[in-house]
Amino acid sequence: MISVVPSKGLKIKKLDETLLAPDEPAPFIILNPDAVVPILLVCDHASHRFPRSLGTMGLDFLNRHSHVVHDIGAGALVEMLANNLGVTAVLCQYSRLIVDCNRELADHNAFLEYNDGVDIPANHNLRNNEKEKRASEIYWPYHNAIEGQISRLKDQGINPVFISIHSFSPVINGEARELEMGVLWDKDPTTAKFFLSDLGEAGYFVGDNKPYSGKDPEDFTIDHHAEPNGLPHVGIEIRQNLIHHGDGIKRISGILQKIINLVARQNRSIDIESQKSFK
Ligand SMILES: [Zn+2]
Repeated sequence: MISVVPSKGLKIKKLDETLLAPDEPAPFIILNPDAVVPILLVCDHASHRFPRSLGTMGLDFLNRHSHVVHDIGAGALVEMLANNLGVTAVLCQYSRLIVDCNRELADHNAFLEYNDGVDIPANHNLRNNEKEKRASEIYWPYHNAIEGQISRLKDQGINPVFISIHSFSPVINGEARELEMGVLWDKDPTTAKFFLSDLGEAGYFVGDNKPYSGKDPEDFTIDHHAEPNGLPHVGIEIRQNLIHHGDGIKRISGILQKIINLVARQNRSIDIESQKSFK
């Protein structure tokens, strides 16, 4: 039996084939997997990689390297933060277009068909078995890796601050965005306040739950890992033109390192039930 995605240029795949070949990169990488610092960095949209079995997904070269496919600069920024701070980081190694790890699987946006003027042919009429394959080979291994790191740290009496790093496009749907950074939060205003005030003091135009909201059901990775584990948490969004080059990554990393060091010293747990969600 074969599963056919009826779009030009796409590969025809046998149902029994795995999504990832044995010689392809694992679905995630863990940096500093033995660190005992109370910080855990995660990067859902670090990579623009497609599994070989999905070919180009029907996208041209430019779109395959655009913000539609990954968070430009975010992976490199997380790597620099992890190295400079000596903290653990978990980064997804496949594009958000394969499966968006920052969405509930049941959310139709988990398998984007269209975004910012770009059509994604390989995600049209996706069959359930294809979605399941992407979930079992990328989505769950990535989330299990994060959960594994939380357990490892907790076993050592460490309650890490859970920090999810994303980047956003300077222009979306034809509109320029003035915001330079966003601090996304839901149940933990305390951690968010550190970033809101210190990024503002550093001279950046910072959005409070903008350009995206951290309120449930947005920011699934935080909802799924940080909140049930009672971890302090925050989502940070950085405008891509600030981190699409080495100098920018260095600059932003330096600023975030100072704030992360501050929040790491708090080392507290939060009681989710007692925290009101301010919609
Ligand atoms: Zn993102």
